[in-house]
Amino acid sequence: MKNIAVIGAGTMGNGIAHTFAQFGYKVSLIDISQESLDKGIATITKNLDRMVAKEKISENDKAATLANITTYTALEKGAEDAGLVVEAATENEAIKLDLFRKLDTICPDETILASNTSSIPITKIAAVTSRPDKVIGMHFMNPVPIMKLVEVIRGYNTSDETTQTVLELSKNLKKVPTEVNDYPGFVANRILMPMINEAVETLYNNVAGVAEIDTVMKLGMAHPMGPLQLADFIGLDVCLSILEVMYDGFKNPKYAPCPLLVNMVRAGKLGVKSGEGFYDYAESRKAEKVSKQFS
Ligand code: NAD
Repeated sequence: MKNIAVIGAGTMGNGIAHTFAQFGYKVSLIDISQESLDKGIATITKNLDRMVAKEKISENDKAATLANITTYTALEKGAEDAGLVVEAATENEAIKLDLFRKLDTICPDETILASNTSSIPITKIAAVTSRPDKVIGMHFMNPVPIMKLVEVIRGYNTSDETTQTVLELSKNLKKVPTEVNDYPGFVANRILMPMINEAVETLYNNVAGVAEIDTVMKLGMAHPMGPLQLADFIGLDVCLSILEVMYDGFKNPKYAPCPLLVNMVRAGKLGVKSGEGFYDYAESRKAEKVSKQFS
């Protein structure tokens, strides 16, 4: 399998395209937005430059990686000869179901259709295709070129053969694939999101400020980053939508999103990508606006 199509050139898509291209795969990077494609290629170039500066790869490796990526705004042109499609479009169920319906008609019968979704059930996505045995979750972590884990999610009908192929492919990218079943939040977010939500609740209840909560978790639990800072990096809207999927999926109040998280998303405070979340990224990178507001 040498031809890979990656749908979506945002945070995750450009990292996934970069990684496959670096390991010699021919990648079609597809996005509805030309601006996203341009930004995606600029990000890949910047990240490759950083790897060259650190002497992890050579200038030739950089050129070869970039040469392996072709960009498209049309799904038909980019995905028609792919052996594997990795969908990393916006986390929206309607968008993903529509994409998988179309991919099912565009791609050859043997093509594996993978989704990088953080929370949408793989079984639900698979059900809109005529090949549910070839639909699987391939959940990369951010930043993709650096993070080792790929959570490989088996939908209800995913075949052993599809799973084996995806596990092998992940290993070819020097990743560590981990096989899990298709239940809300899978494993990574089922454990991570309640922790983030509890950190927001702790702030909301005025138990401590942003820096204090993050310091306790960093220094006390040896986490490389506090939960509130991590939430800013993931995107507060993404955290909220994953919690909503888990709340809805398990019908258990323990997953109910904290009202502060809901309010911040409504106010457009989405974290790093909007310039402000629990920390202020626009002015001084670590100002504690929200902390002060609640102390
Ligand atoms: P993003 O908003 O950065 O990028 C999404 C991209 O999808 C945009 O460029 C958008 O133009 C494009 N897009 C939207 N509809 C499309 C369509 N119909 N066809 C082609 N392109 C389309 O989002 P992201 O953070 O990269 O997340 C992508 C996926 O990865 C989501 O499913 C998300 O849950 C998952 N994920 C995100 C993270 C993270 O840390 N951000 C981590 C793991 C998984």
